[in-house]
Amino acid sequence: MAWVKGPSADYDDWAELVDDPWWRWDNVKQVLNKLEDFRPGCPAGMEKYAKATPGAHGKDGPIAVQFPLVWQDLIVHCLEASEQAGHVLNADNNDGDPVGFAVAQFSVGDGVRVTSANAFLGLSQRRALTNLTIVPEILCSRVLFSDNKASSIELIPSKLSASLGGAVRVAVSQEVILAAGTFQSAQLLLLSGIGPRADLEALSIPVVGDLPGVGQRIRDHSAFACEYIMSPEIAGHNQLLSSPTLLEAAQKEYALSKSGPMSVFGASAALIFPRLKAVLSSPEFAEVDKSTQALLEKPTRPSTEIWMHSGPLFYTGPCPTDASVLVIEGLNQNCLSEGSLKLRSRDPYDLPLVDPRYLTHPLDKRVAVETLREILGLSRTDALSKIIQTPLLAPEGDSESHLEDFIRENLTQGFHSMGTCVMGRGEDPRRVVNNQFEVVGVKGLRVADMSVCPILTCNHTQVNAYLIGLRCAEVVVKEAQGTQSRAKL
Ligand SMILES: Cc1cc2nc3c(=O)[nH]c(=O)nc-3n(C[C@H](O)[C@H](O)[C@H](O)COP(=O)(O)OP(=O)(O)OC[C@H]3O[C@@H](n4cnc5c(N)ncnc54)[C@H](O)[C@@H]3O)c2cc1C
Repeated sequence: MAWVKGPSADYDDWAELVDDPWWRWDNVKQVLNKLEDFRPGCPAGMEKYAKATPGAHGKDGPIAVQFPLVWQDLIVHCLEASEQAGHVLNADNNDGDPVGFAVAQFSVGDGVRVTSANAFLGLSQRRALTNLTIVPEILCSRVLFSDNKASSIELIPSKLSASLGGAVRVAVSQEVILAAGTFQSAQLLLLSGIGPRADLEALSIPVVGDLPGVGQRIRDHSAFACEYIMSPEIAGHNQLLSSPTLLEAAQKEYALSKSGPMSVFGASAALIFPRLKAVLSSPEFAEVDKSTQALLEKPTRPSTEIWMHSGPLFYTGPCPTDASVLVIEGLNQNCLSEGSLKLRSRDPYDLPLVDPRYLTHPLDKRVAVETLREILGLSRTDALSKIIQTPLLAPEGDSESHLEDFIRENLTQGFHSMGTCVMGRGEDPRRVVNNQFEVVGVKGLRVADMSVCPILTCNHTQVNAYLIGLRCAEVVVKEAQGTQSRAKL
């Protein structure tokens, strides 16, 4: 539900990488304004922390966005800690400059999470879209080609619906747009014979397009957290989830009025997007090429991200069930390590093998270590040390090797993977789609999801997924209108 736009510098860079000015921040911010139904407001007395920048938000769009209307007590302690640790307040980090500490904004309206499904495909919208057919419980297993043009798709029942029968083919009248996400769109291209020739031949998949970039260039904000047991009077969701009585009451309240703890936990967080001198002046930074340095040095680009909220989230060991837990989570930004994905087999039910290669780039390691140092600094501020009782998940010491060991043992994915079917300029040897979302080298096939994203932006990626969907729709509609007017002539 986190609604976090990237820094303006990221979208300007995106536009440059794909040679399409649509992606420049000046345009993207207008598009996002049309998408948003921003609802200002915050708990009384908290206005200094949560103030929308004039012009930075839209009204009446399909996605409700707001600061939480009820804040966990924990949040104010986290905001105070951020200030004590030397970060600057950013009362609206969704205006193109996320740097500083802030209260998180969420895609939530009236206590309900807004998703692409309920924003765009509610019952009345589906009824109005008479040319739309949604087929649930079905997977696309490959695209078939005739003369290099997508001619049909193959559909199979999802694993849980095997009783629905065998594979069927659906003829393509115009074109296919894959939107199966970073991992599955690349898997589908590979299953369809589009990808690195050697990998396809190794599995005896007939090669339709030799595209070395398919499944490569995976980037993500790798993540880890320190967690602490807090004073019991600060409520956390652990206490709620472990008490059948409290949980039942909270569920009843939520069902009746979309309010109460179920609408607060998870939709209440403080965050920091700091620019860290320790990163920007590090030997690892000095080794990075000049153009990457120039991007990372842009003033709106943070070095990392830190989230503070209730937990436990990463800690999986024994924990008193009634303990209230604080999570201080690091989401490493600017990651330069690139992972990759390949098929295990030709079986579409076999999930692909993913090697994220987190922290293989020396700068990523520096970012992670400095993020952890910041987290430890926050935990030792007056504001947090007065509510922290015991560490649950934290490094054993402060030395560089203690920090590295902790990260190695606890690092996981940030759920913001992108890049397996990357969009790029003609001269980019690893591009998979052009700026019209068309898979290069074949006809009648586009990809439109996070897999095409050319840059790991410093934000949370649902915003980018919406932008990709909207831009692809615009391109397709324009093209169709052009064809129609040509046909009339
Ligand atoms: C646990 C988690 C938490 C997250 N939290 C946030 C957050 O708070 N804020 C934020 O901004 N971002 C968040 N993200 C990231 C965000 O959800 C993704 O970046 C975004 O959903 C990516 O959109 P997408 O369209 O590329 O792919 P997806 O949203 O993954 O959509 C792909 C769709 O294709 C379907 N599909 C896959 N394979 C096939 C197939 N073979 N045939 C048919 N259908 C198929 C899938 O079921 C899915 O519905 C989170 C991600 C995760 C995993």
